[in-house]
Amino acid sequence: MDISVVIPIYNEEENLPILYEKLKNVLDRLNKEYEIIFVNDGSTDNSWNIIKQLAEKDKRVIGVNFRRNFGQTAAMSAGFETAKGDIIITMDGDLQNDPEDIPKLLEKIDEGYDIVSGWRKNRKDAFLSRTLPSKIANALISKVTGVHLHDYGCSLKAYKSEIAKNLDFYGEMHRFLPALSKAIGAKITEIPVNHHPRIYGKSKYGISRTFKVILDLLLVKFLLDYRTKPLRIFGGIGFILSLIGFFILSYLVCIKLCFGHSIGNRPLLTFGVLFFLTGIQLISTGIVAELITRTYYESQGKRPYIIKEIINRD
Ligand code: UDP
Ligand code: MG
Repeated sequence: MDISVVIPIYNEEENLPILYEKLKNVLDRLNKEYEIIFVNDGSTDNSWNIIKQLAEKDKRVIGVNFRRNFGQTAAMSAGFETAKGDIIITMDGDLQNDPEDIPKLLEKIDEGYDIVSGWRKNRKDAFLSRTLPSKIANALISKVTGVHLHDYGCSLKAYKSEIAKNLDFYGEMHRFLPALSKAIGAKITEIPVNHHPRIYGKSKYGISRTFKVILDLLLVKFLLDYRTKPLRIFGGIGFILSLIGFFILSYLVCIKLCFGHSIGNRPLLTFGVLFFLTGIQLISTGIVAELITRTYYESQGKRPYIIKEIINRD
């Protein structure tokens, strides 16, 4: 199998038949072996029936049906797991990404890149609630992860499957796949792609996703650093603070006991107590952080979704 196209689907009944036709059109022209994997993420409309119908008449359509809605990232992860292609392409199921861009992504993979990411240079989404927050998020992600792309959120991407299959992700993390892949040595590039306004169905996201993305960003930073140096930063700062606090408090106790000075109304007392207690707190946080990180690595075998059925794949 040469190419697997992975598409998360959550209530896209009007879009599915059109998307399938467009994709087939592009993929047939490539003269390569391909499969289209629709992952139904607990749709409440007719999407799953449509996927079943498509799969019935075209054996290259694989349908993965989730038990309930687990989110776009989980759906992508299930698609990666199911995929048999040497190259995996991800895209949205709402016709906002353009199948016509796929050959351009593949060209870059042929040039030797492991991941080619789409850049929605002319993004067709609401400015205030979507495009602007994502511009800010993109700038932050670029700074924090050290992997510099213009548009992390674009679903249209191509991956060499050996890279895709080595990635673990959940939450809103599909946008951090380039950063996580860099940590395992992937070569990444970006090309401008088309973006169309959504015509059928509604967007499943609003502004609240930006906050989830920022939380995931902190976590990714944490995980990336942990690969090279264990996260001892809480413990380190905590140790220094509690040490300073300890010296201040010892000094105060000393002048009280040795010289009989009153220490009750000194600002230094507040600092001493504050530093000492905050330091102890941070040391404890450091220990908890360490434990959580280990648990994370040990539990990597777990999948963040449950599959009810798969069609056209034994
Ligand atoms: N999606 C999904 N599960 C969800 C939300 C979205 O599988 O819980 C799919 C959705 O069907 C679409 C893609 O993820 O194919 C992107 O969703 P959407 O178009 O709503 O996001 P936006 O383009 O507004 O960022
Ligand atoms: Mg969309």
